[in-house]
Amino acid sequence: MQELDSRVDQLRHQRAKLPELAEIAELTGKRTDVDNLARDVRITIDDLTVEQKKVDLDVEAVKTRRKRDRDRMDQGLITNPKDLERMGHELESLERRIGSLEDDELEVMEKIEEAQRELAGYEALVAETDERLAVLAVARDEKLAVIDEELQRHEAARGPVAEGLPEDLVKLYLRLRASKGGVGAAALRARECGGCRLSLDSVELSRIKGLPEDEVVRCEECDRILVRTSESGL
Ligand SMILES: [Zn+2]
Repeated sequence: MQELDSRVDQLRHQRAKLPELAEIAELTGKRTDVDNLARDVRITIDDLTVEQKKVDLDVEAVKTRRKRDRDRMDQGLITNPKDLERMGHELESLERRIGSLEDDELEVMEKIEEAQRELAGYEALVAETDERLAVLAVARDEKLAVIDEELQRHEAARGPVAEGLPEDLVKLYLRLRASKGGVGAAALRARECGGCRLSLDSVELSRIKGLPEDEVVRCEECDRILVRTSESGL
């Protein structure tokens, strides 16, 4: 029963400490960080797109104004030299304004392109991480299936073993197991307690030797149940 329980403890520990689990946790954290960066860049791109549309509209508005002024001049609607001069100045100023707005337009477009490159980098990293996470999940599931199968086998085998033991002995064993690092019973092998690894003296050994086979023997040092075997050295 102790052997079965120890193996179950070991398997549960293995199950909890799978290297894939640690890597999955680490990668999931990194993925979240990169995803947050990507989200920030998307917001930046949205803001820049709004800015770009605004500059586009401004350019269109100034161009419309320029066309109206030119049309008026072409149609000969302005005849007064003073008005013509003023219109000439206005057209020059509109021309400068268009130039400046078009520079802004270019600048915003460059910023958008740069942000899009940055976003593509983050998205590629997220996709790469997802691929690795998928591989890790498969490896994790395969290992868990093997461990769980063995766990079930050991747990199924434990039932009949426990049934064959006196109830109070099982209780004692469980109590010792809880307080002594999972080991409640140990084999007495070559005069040594398998629990605390201390050797028994000859007086104790001969006392044990004289006890009936079904008497529960305890280690004097660690208190654990000592199981006598053919290798006990008695
Ligand atoms: Zn001991």
